[in-house]
Amino acid sequence: MNVQLDLQPLELEGPSQNSGSFLIAGPCSAESEVQLLEAAEALKHEHIHLFRAGIWKPRTRPGSFQGLGSKALPWLKKVKEITGLPVATEVANERHVYEALKYNLDVLWIGARTTANPFAVEEIANALEGTDTRVMVKSPVNPDINLWLGAIERLNQKGIKKLAAIHRGFSSHEESPYRNPPVWSIPEKLKSLVPNLPIINDPSHITGNSSLLYDIAKKALDKEFDGLMIEVHPNPEKALSDANQQITPEGFRDLMHLLNIKNANNGDKPELHQLRKNIDYLDDELLEILNRRMQLIQQIGSYKKHRKLSIFQENRWRKVLSQRLKNGKKKGLDHQFIKRIFETIHDESITKQKR
Ligand code: PEP
Ligand code: MN
Repeated sequence: MNVQLDLQPLELEGPSQNSGSFLIAGPCSAESEVQLLEAAEALKHEHIHLFRAGIWKPRTRPGSFQGLGSKALPWLKKVKEITGLPVATEVANERHVYEALKYNLDVLWIGARTTANPFAVEEIANALEGTDTRVMVKSPVNPDINLWLGAIERLNQKGIKKLAAIHRGFSSHEESPYRNPPVWSIPEKLKSLVPNLPIINDPSHITGNSSLLYDIAKKALDKEFDGLMIEVHPNPEKALSDANQQITPEGFRDLMHLLNIKNANNGDKPELHQLRKNIDYLDDELLEILNRRMQLIQQIGSYKKHRKLSIFQENRWRKVLSQRLKNGKKKGLDHQFIKRIFETIHDESITKQKR
């Protein structure tokens, strides 16, 4: 079954006209004019298509940084004037829409908490009616495809045709390495229902962790998503929101290289130093994953202790090893190599549980 929507391409005019993945990047939040200009200048050289920055931040709990509000709108306008990059921000109510339209922002997006609220979406759709605004709709916080599709339909019914969806994962109470696990079946279903709607992947909000971005972004590109939205900050450690998941413009360049995205600043053959940086990036991911694995091992250790179960369980280990060997083989990895690695990991896990 297809859902019939009257859609048009986003058609953004900016310095990066090359085809390929649609790249959106910029800080989670606008924090100052200098921060925005610094990020945008650097990202312009990475040939992104759209610069993002949140100015009204829907924080889950009060007390965290709420964004600078309308005060930051002229800064976004300046970013566009100076760099030529199209600019986008998040809107969550009618007032935000009117304010953003006054400053001629190129794209507005609806955040995950707002998509989950049909009253708010309706209010935004009414405020946009009669304009030709480009709107991107983030997946709702909860894994409900109808809320996502419903928001897109509500906007389309008010004549908004330049639409895209952003997949930012879904909150979950289950243990996960990700802040918002991706649940790929949901964006895939949306794609099958509305094949002409572009879907952009947001690995920053899915992972919540800058060292896990590659894995999710790679999967999204393999699944033929139309683009990526990535949070980039000149100084991520000092970021006022989402500090753990933001990367520097240099990190963004490395990530694009690693993903083999040609429309970023990397058309040439990679140099040795670039290949080495790619290795550094992947090693960081490996360490992050090992760390998370060891944390789980600790939990398993205390579970077994509680229930007086033996630490080493032959059957389970044999199953684990043969599974890993099978998966390794599928990926073209050497049998002995995978065996050695998993034996080492397993030894360390047993030692840790004994402790
Ligand atoms: C954001 O893009 O900074 C944001 C708040 O994301 P989400 O709505 O996906 O949580
Ligand atoms: Mn954010």
